[in-house]
Amino acid sequence: MRPREIPKAVLLTLGLLVGSAEGGEPPRKEVSAARAHEGGARLRNHMDNSALKTFQATVERQARNFSNFFLEGKHPYNEKGESNFSLTFDDGPDDVYTPAILDILKKYNIKATFFLVGELAEKYPAMAKRIKDEGHAIGGHAHEHVDMRKLDTKDMYANQVEKTRELLARQLGFSINLFRAPYGVVTDSQIEECRKHGVVVANWSVDSFDWRKGYDNPQQIEQVVVKHAHPGGFALFHSGRDDRSATVAALPHIIDKLLQRGFAFNRVDDALDVPR
Ligand SMILES: [Zn+2]
Repeated sequence: MRPREIPKAVLLTLGLLVGSAEGGEPPRKEVSAARAHEGGARLRNHMDNSALKTFQATVERQARNFSNFFLEGKHPYNEKGESNFSLTFDDGPDDVYTPAILDILKKYNIKATFFLVGELAEKYPAMAKRIKDEGHAIGGHAHEHVDMRKLDTKDMYANQVEKTRELLARQLGFSINLFRAPYGVVTDSQIEECRKHGVVVANWSVDSFDWRKGYDNPQQIEQVVVKHAHPGGFALFHSGRDDRSATVAALPHIIDKLLQRGFAFNRVDDALDVPR
């Protein structure tokens, strides 16, 4: 590639494009976003209780300290200069909400990322296959939906991460290199164990709070995601294991609003340069 063909988005990410020769929007906003990105990823929500604040401090520290732990993507902008944003869905598959979400994504022709619980992928193999066949990324969300911190590192890796990896590889025919822990909580040594095995741990930078009592209505979910959406962000939603009708109802409104604001939707593996 000749130098003059370097996409504008790359220059913006590097903070190199400070003039206005390229036209379009003034670059000030993009440059500062790129600098903020380098300074460490953040969980953007307002955390309004001490448990959430502790969680936030922990994952932001882990994102700073581990090369395989992420809250957001590496590329705030795509080659067209649009803001990248990744929709992610935990706790599937199921046979009610996962298909409803897939129908919405198909209608908009948007690719997303699903972090699947191993034992639910065993229960709903056709839905796991549909997710893959429709072009979405898949990561593991442990074999059982339990708190990883209660398991020692070797047990956690073998029986939650690797077991789900092997199961999904058998079912779907490809290697799963993305992992997200239930509740987003994982110990430092578990992250390190994942790193040794080439597994990337992907949390989120925007929590839809669709899991949170009192916040789990479509209006609140829409409001919190649209408010905190940012270039390169990963948004957390849920597609199974509970009543996710509010998530399903909110999703088209969120997509419409973010499209209007110039966001483009990408898969977490692409956002993190994890080989497909
Ligand atoms: Zn979960």
